[in-house]
Amino acid sequence: MHELAITESILRIAKSEAEKHNASRVLSIKLKVGELSGVVPTLIQEYFNIASNETLVEGAKLIIDRIPITIKCLNCGYEGGMDKMKRKCPECNSYDIKILTGREFYVESLEVE
Ligand SMILES: [Zn+2]
Repeated sequence: MHELAITESILRIAKSEAEKHNASRVLSIKLKVGELSGVVPTLIQEYFNIASNETLVEGAKLIIDRIPITIKCLNCGYEGGMDKMKRKCPECNSYDIKILTGREFYVESLEVE
């Protein structure tokens, strides 16, 4: 159910931004979602449709931009993508890796009118 809490925070951000700009409604919300963030975009969309009902965010388009996983291997120096399920370096199979991207989750921008 952590998508519900996430959706509520997206709505809160969107509403306060819209108020700040004296906007009458929010047209779209752009989200960045990392592959490792554990966030399920379809659930966000579903909760969003319900939770935004009768607010100035109602009908806003959710644009979800997925951020792929990239790692740096501390063993061989490999830098690049990684299979989500494996969690190890694809070059040398070391588990001694650092995650560079893929954990992100944030509201990147909003379009209001
Ligand atoms: Zn490696």
